[in-house]
Amino acid sequence: MSVRPDEPPSSAALLGDRAYPESRVSYGGATYWLERSADGVKRLVAVADDESAFRDFTGTAERSGGEVRFIAATTPENAVALRSALPWLKPSRFGLHTSAGFGDRLGLATPGHVRALTAVGADINPVFAQQSIREMGRCGRTPRNVLDDATWGAFQAGWTKPVGGDADHLEQLDDIEDTAAAGFVFYTLDPKAEVDPEAEHAGPAMIKEKVEALDWASLDSDAAAFEKSYVGRRIDLQQRALELDEESVLRAMAKYGPGIVHAMAMYRRLMEKGIDCEVEFAVDETDYPTKPAEHVVVVSELQRLGMDFVSFAPRFVGRFEKGVEYIGDIEELQRDFEIHAEIARALGPYKLSLHSGSDKYSTYPLIAEATKGVVHLKTAGTSWAEALRVIANNDPDLMREVLVLALDSFEANRKSYHLSCDPTKIPTDPTDEQVARLMDGIDSRQVLHVGYGAILSEFRPRLYQVWNDNEDEHYRIIADHFVKHLAPFAPYAQ
Ligand SMILES: [Zn+2]
Repeated sequence: MSVRPDEPPSSAALLGDRAYPESRVSYGGATYWLERSADGVKRLVAVADDESAFRDFTGTAERSGGEVRFIAATTPENAVALRSALPWLKPSRFGLHTSAGFGDRLGLATPGHVRALTAVGADINPVFAQQSIREMGRCGRTPRNVLDDATWGAFQAGWTKPVGGDADHLEQLDDIEDTAAAGFVFYTLDPKAEVDPEAEHAGPAMIKEKVEALDWASLDSDAAAFEKSYVGRRIDLQQRALELDEESVLRAMAKYGPGIVHAMAMYRRLMEKGIDCEVEFAVDETDYPTKPAEHVVVVSELQRLGMDFVSFAPRFVGRFEKGVEYIGDIEELQRDFEIHAEIARALGPYKLSLHSGSDKYSTYPLIAEATKGVVHLKTAGTSWAEALRVIANNDPDLMREVLVLALDSFEANRKSYHLSCDPTKIPTDPTDEQVARLMDGIDSRQVLHVGYGAILSEFRPRLYQVWNDNEDEHYRIIADHFVKHLAPFAPYAQ
C-alpha cells in the first residue's frame, strides 16, 4: 500500500490537525494513525482501498480517488474495534516471560512508557493497563477506561509487540466481574484482608486453635492431614535445604489459611468466566515479611487446591514505601530475594513479583539476578508522581495549590499506604525553585504521591490542560524515569 499518512489532509475538517507519525501502522489492508486537533482532541484516521476495512468502527468515511479515508473518535467502542483491527493491542498472557507493569492513574502516560521500553530495547513484556480497584475508585475510572487509555497510548506511540492487562489487587469477588467484563487477562488476587496478622506473634496454643478453626471444608482437607503432609518435610533448593518444622508450618497456615480460602473463591469465580487469562497471587501488602516456610506452605496449598498462578508477590523484608528508595538492609533483602527465587524455581517455576517497585533502584539488579529474569516488576503510582513535575515546571501556581490540598488532606490520603514522610518539613508557600524540587524530596514526594484522589477530584480539568499542552515534555520525563527502572532487568530479560 502506498499510503503516506503524513501527506496534507484532503478534508478541510482536518486542517490544523497534527499526526503522530510513530503511530502510523499498516495491517490487514488498512493504514492507521492518530491525529490531534489544535484544541487537543485526538482521533483515529485510517485509509484503505475499501470501506469494509472499517466496519467495526464508528466514524465517517470519505472516498477520494481510489481510497477511503476514515475518521473515528477515540471512544470506548472504537478502542474495541482498534484492538481487533491491530490484534497486538489486545492484552495477552505472558507466561514466565520477564515483564513489567506500568500503572497509569491518569491514562496519559503510556506513550512515555513505550519510549522507555524502546530506549532500553530489552525483551521485557509490558503491562500498560494496570490499576487496582482501590485506585480506580479514587481516580474516578472504570476497568474499561484503564484498558482503553492504554490501548490508545500504545497505538499513539507505535507499540507493535504484545501487551498485558493487569486487574491489579482484586480483593472482592465482585472485583472479578467488572474487570473480566472489561477484557483483562492478568488477575492479581490479593486476600490481604483475610490474612491474620495475629498469627505472627501468637503463642502455640492459639496458633493450634486458629489452624483447627480454619474453613477446612473449603480447603478440602483437615488440620491433621495438613500437619502430616508438611511437618518434617524437607525441600531441597539449589543453595540450601528447607526443613519445615511444626511451629513454622502451623504458624504459616494460621496466618495465611483464611487468605488461601478467599483467594481460591476468587480464583474459582474467575475460572467460571472461561477467559484465557493468568493469575498472580499477592500478599505484598500484609504486615509481616513472608518467611520461606510460609512461601512453601502457601504456594503448595494453592497448588493442591488447583490454582494455576504465573507469579507470586510475597511481602519481602524491609520497607517498600511509595515513591522512594528501598528502606532497610539491602544485603538482607538480597538474601530474601535469593531464597524466594529458589523456592519459586523449585515449586514452580513461577515468577516472583516485586510490588511497590517504583523508585527502588538498588533492588532491581538484585532481584533480576536472583530470579534470572523470571520476574515481574510492578510499579503503580510513580508515573503520577513524575507527571506532577510537568505541573511544577509549567504552572508553579497550580502546583502550590495542589501541594496545599495534598497537605490538608494528608491524614485521609495516607490510609492503606506505608509512608515515612514528615509533612511538617514541607514548605507551605514554596518559591518557584522549591516548587521545581517538590518531587525530589522524600517528604513532599510521598505527600503528593498519595494525594492523587483528592488532587484529581479538585483540579482535574486544570491539571489535564497542562499535561495536554505539554505532552511531549510529559512523555520525556516518564521515559527518563522508566529507563532507570527497566535497564537493570535488561541483561536477564527472557
Ligand atoms: Zn502490591
